[in-house]
Amino acid sequence: MQGIHHAFGRHEVVKGIDLEVLPGEVVCLLGPSGCGKTTLLRIAAGLETLQRGRVALEGKEVAGGGGRHLPPEKRSVGLAFQDSALFPHLSVLENVTFGLKHLPAGERRQRALTLLEQLGMAAHAESYPHMLSGGQQQRVALARALAPEPQLMLLDEPFSSLDARLRDQIRDDTLHVLKKVGAATLLVTHDPEEAMFMADRIALMRDGHIIQVGTPRELYCNPSDPFVVTFFGEVN
Ligand code: ATP
Repeated sequence: MQGIHHAFGRHEVVKGIDLEVLPGEVVCLLGPSGCGKTTLLRIAAGLETLQRGRVALEGKEVAGGGGRHLPPEKRSVGLAFQDSALFPHLSVLENVTFGLKHLPAGERRQRALTLLEQLGMAAHAESYPHMLSGGQQQRVALARALAPEPQLMLLDEPFSSLDARLRDQIRDDTLHVLKKVGAATLLVTHDPEEAMFMADRIALMRDGHIIQVGTPRELYCNPSDPFVVTFFGEVN
């Protein structure tokens, strides 16, 4: 993403952001509520029309000058949000294979089962969403987002509705699968501990700007701004 600006009416919420996520890398967009994290993610996904700047995926421009806008379904992106609703009338397996219609049935099933296995959900393949806990549903939502092997995974607070014990386990499993799949991942969180755990790099935002981007260690040990110190102040 280059030179991204975005306003809702007169309220500018993204104020000139440049950010690159490399294949296999997890970048956490971290910052207080309302600083523009979700808006930036939605711009990357194509869910918001780009107003200014440029978005490219593997060097190919998907949004930019002259009103160019590739819709979300034509970008190679996987999306999982805090309340990623599963299709209630489809089984877990059918939910995960939903975006794989272009593949032969056997391959579709195999790919979905492998992901469900990696996320600890293979035993529930034939279950329906209402039979699962919130954490289990979230695991299925992650498998569904990963199934088409997107170039870019966009995760918006995917663990925030889960209780602490469950959250740690799902974070662990998710990170493992993301690394295995090798997708570039942009993960939104307002939780510095989560960012420290998940991120190869953290982009710390405040009021529409990125204040510092670097490895968790760089931000923690070499903060570039007092805001970074304050934000990480409570992490041990
Ligand atoms: P949170 O952590 O609370 O989700 P965030 O950092 O993700 O916050 P955004 O959701 O990107 O922040 O919102 C940034 C600002 O833009 C907020 O002030 C929000 O109220 C405003 N905003 C977001 N979406 C819209 C919209 N569709 N219309 C008008 N204002 C919006």
